[in-house]
Amino acid sequence: MKYDLHTHTNQSDGELTPEELIFRASEAGINMLAITDHDRITFDDELAIKAKNYGIKLIPSVEISTIWNGIGLHLVGLNVLPNAKLIQLGLVSNREARHARNLLIAEKLSAEGIPDALVGAKKYAIGEIVGRTHFAQYLIETAKAKDIKRAFSQYLANGKKAFSEAKWVSLSTAITWIKDAGGLAVLAHPLRYGLKRKRLCQLLQEFKNQGGDGMEVINCNLKPDEKENLSRLCQQFNLKASCGSDFHGSHMPWYQIGRFDELPKKCQAIGDILYG
Ligand code: AMP
Ligand code: MN
Ligand code: MN
Ligand code: MN
Repeated sequence: MKYDLHTHTNQSDGELTPEELIFRASEAGINMLAITDHDRITFDDELAIKAKNYGIKLIPSVEISTIWNGIGLHLVGLNVLPNAKLIQLGLVSNREARHARNLLIAEKLSAEGIPDALVGAKKYAIGEIVGRTHFAQYLIETAKAKDIKRAFSQYLANGKKAFSEAKWVSLSTAITWIKDAGGLAVLAHPLRYGLKRKRLCQLLQEFKNQGGDGMEVINCNLKPDEKENLSRLCQQFNLKASCGSDFHGSHMPWYQIGRFDELPKKCQAIGDILYG
């Protein structure tokens, strides 16, 4: 069985339509797929049927932007009831926080001599979600940055000139939304937050205590020692293990659907629970 439990469509900062993503997943031999757009659940029955016709089980999912001790963390909710009230209302409030944050990013870019960046970013956003990736695409278009990585390292990444943290939901509240929707709460890409080991352990312990179910152990391009580290942490904190590419599209070619290592045998795969 091949699972990819972390992917994006053009309903957030991905490139492909949900239908195109499903087709690409089928080409990559995926049996179970989670579309995890930022702060929105991209799922409907028609889409699930389309996926099924390609032999893919599509599970309604989301990647929620959260705050833990002042640090922005991403929480994946897998197999959520797409119309559950609490999570839907919560995601609306996160999208409002995103909008307010985007105004601040645009202001900061304007102060750097880059006016009208929100209008520019919105050109790259197909759906309601406008994010830093869209700002990055605008910075490339206007030759303010050479590529997406540099747009982040020069302007948009945490602590850089145009960075502004949104008033996202707290990690603990986001967990309750996912639980209320009958889903599984999975900490996304734990090594991408720049946390020192002690801090990461503190996070995982709190996450577990608050009802967290799993953590991503396998993403694209992990080094062997990172994989080993995540595998141990997953076992140490008695969390289930998830795997996902974080595929976005050709603007982030370093993430490809299904192109990642197998989960370590010692970890309990969350996908096996969901596949049933
Ligand atoms: P936002 O939800 O608007 O804060 O944007 C977060 C998204 O920006 C992530 O999901 C990634 O897709 C993208 N991103 C964050 N950091 C980087 C980076 N250093 N290089 C490229 N993309 C990044
Ligand atoms: Mn993204
Ligand atoms: Mn993420
Ligand atoms: Mn993601």
